[in-house]
Amino acid sequence: MENPLLTESTLPFGAPPFDKIRNEHYMPAFEQGIAEAKAEIDAIVANPAAPSFENTIEALENAGQTLDRVSGIFYNLLEADTDDEMQQIAEDISPKMTEYEMYVSLNEPLFARIKSVYDRRDALGLDKEQYKLLEDTYKDFVRSGALLSPADKERYGQYEEELSLLGLQYGKNVLAATNAYTLNITDRARLAGLPGFVTEAAAELAKEKGQEGWTFDLSYPSYSAFMKYSTDRELKRQLYMAYNTKAVGGENDNLENVRRIADLRIKIANILGYPTYADYAIEDRMAKTPATVNAFLSKLLDPSLPAARKEVATILSFARENGFEEEVLQPWDFSYWTERYKDAHYALNDALLKPYFQLEDCIDAVFGLAGKLYGLSFEERPDIPGYHKDVKVYDVKDADGRHLALFYADFFPRESKRGGAWMTEFRGQSIVDGVERRPFISLVTNFTKPTAQSPSLLTHDELTTLLHEFGHSLHGMMAEGRYESQTGTNVARDFVELPSQIMENWAFEPEFLNGFARHYQTGEILPADLIEKVKATQNYLAAYYQVRQLQFGILDMAWHGLTALPEEGTMAFEKKVLTPTAVLPSVPECCTSASFGHIFSGGYSAGYYSYKWAEVLEADAFSLFKEKGIFNREVAASFRENILSKGSREDEAVLYRRFRGHDPQPEALLRKLEITETCK
Ligand SMILES: [Zn+2]
Repeated sequence: MENPLLTESTLPFGAPPFDKIRNEHYMPAFEQGIAEAKAEIDAIVANPAAPSFENTIEALENAGQTLDRVSGIFYNLLEADTDDEMQQIAEDISPKMTEYEMYVSLNEPLFARIKSVYDRRDALGLDKEQYKLLEDTYKDFVRSGALLSPADKERYGQYEEELSLLGLQYGKNVLAATNAYTLNITDRARLAGLPGFVTEAAAELAKEKGQEGWTFDLSYPSYSAFMKYSTDRELKRQLYMAYNTKAVGGENDNLENVRRIADLRIKIANILGYPTYADYAIEDRMAKTPATVNAFLSKLLDPSLPAARKEVATILSFARENGFEEEVLQPWDFSYWTERYKDAHYALNDALLKPYFQLEDCIDAVFGLAGKLYGLSFEERPDIPGYHKDVKVYDVKDADGRHLALFYADFFPRESKRGGAWMTEFRGQSIVDGVERRPFISLVTNFTKPTAQSPSLLTHDELTTLLHEFGHSLHGMMAEGRYESQTGTNVARDFVELPSQIMENWAFEPEFLNGFARHYQTGEILPADLIEKVKATQNYLAAYYQVRQLQFGILDMAWHGLTALPEEGTMAFEKKVLTPTAVLPSVPECCTSASFGHIFSGGYSAGYYSYKWAEVLEADAFSLFKEKGIFNREVAASFRENILSKGSREDEAVLYRRFRGHDPQPEALLRKLEITETCK
């Protein structure tokens, strides 16, 4: 029996033969892929010739092609079109993949060859791209402890293992604490203010839990709906306290885990030669140093804080005019009154806009935008199989007709797909042995499916999401490089959202919207006053939300900028760090650190700032389009040349400067959010 994952594709462009791939093909393909990859690593190590860039660095970059091909297909379908069998295969293959990764990263003779090439790097006559690949390869090994003495290697391994277990425990505690709480209401009077769709969901939840009446829990939709609409201050206080004291004390306590994680990270940083974990984590990002990140956060915070306090004062006076009798808004009052203020001042909802955003029109508009800016065109290819009948496949062509990429578009929800929206690749761009491989890009969303009665209509948020993921897709499609690890979206964490977030801006530009937004029944163009409202709503409470995000970033940098554990406990440390940034009264019992999964059990340690960093990049970059015209071909050509086509072939900070002519300016974001004027 032939395994389609192990034979050359005969389809145009070498497209994956999705119509032939079945679940039973994965395991043998993974096994063969791993065996081949290991044999290739062994061959690099056993090469009798002296280590060279080609026989070591390039050979390592190109090792494991079969495994890459299988993983590229399997892990993407595991998210987009999965079933129980695939979940089981994922579990079964996971230890084998980990073992293979360790086989490479802990391979001492392999590292000895890499180091030998690296030590001679300036005498090898390498071009920029090769030089960067050599540096990145060497650094990856060093950052995983390759230079440590055997004793230190062992200690490092122990720290890492302990840290990963603690991270899991931390995450489990947050989940358990979240699930342990419910607010059950049996007195109908205490549902005051809640709209029908909220009480219906609460009645469902009560039934599920075998309770009478209505139940709310700490999942975000349930929690936030209650806080937005309920007029019962006491119940809002209770729910707020439950939400903000998750994993603080009790059987799922994380307060001590936070200290243990912070302590292990200090030890890991120290053993690798860094004063703090933040120094280690930020070194290979665009920002480079904690000092740059801290200065960046302050630069945004300074004007945002007074502006946010002003916004809170505005909401308070509105509340008092409308029956609120207290002197200050408590945190559990805020959400309710901001919603009422929004209702009163910006009459805008999804139902008003949706008829103007028919999915097919939006897709054409987004493709058209890529045409206007970069000269790209999209030709549907029904002859190339997608992985599901809902998937459409396009041949993406450059302005001169050259094939750039295959684009797989998968818009509608189904049981086999996880929630959310994302861009991914089945194959990245590279040149191997002189043969170029163009990328296979995939964009996956969960938009409402058309029915016999109505087409698929997007909310404005969904249009923005489409543009965002399409921006990542362009980054992948326009990649031009030799080495896959350096092309497309393989860039620093604090840079990768620039190509995506910048595209969101077009969703707020009348010049773009007027080109396609027509009422699907009447054909009427999107009224100008609706566009105005969309823009106005975009910046509602902008300073307040910015301060919230900055607080998370500041707390993250405080924990990961430590050289030693603080004497005070977790809660006291957090209060000390955050008190100067407060805009609403601080509640002594609450603690963010106990349930801050992003930095204590996810991948964002010393990285939470990246969200704001990317916003500054896109605001600053887009301001050039605003200045020269949002369809300006020259600006677009420069964005393509310096950002989209470059991947990480050069330092991201250098690339950015080449496009924009200066370092990213936080002022651009403040201007976009209209924060500067309000406070100076
Ligand atoms: Zn993104």
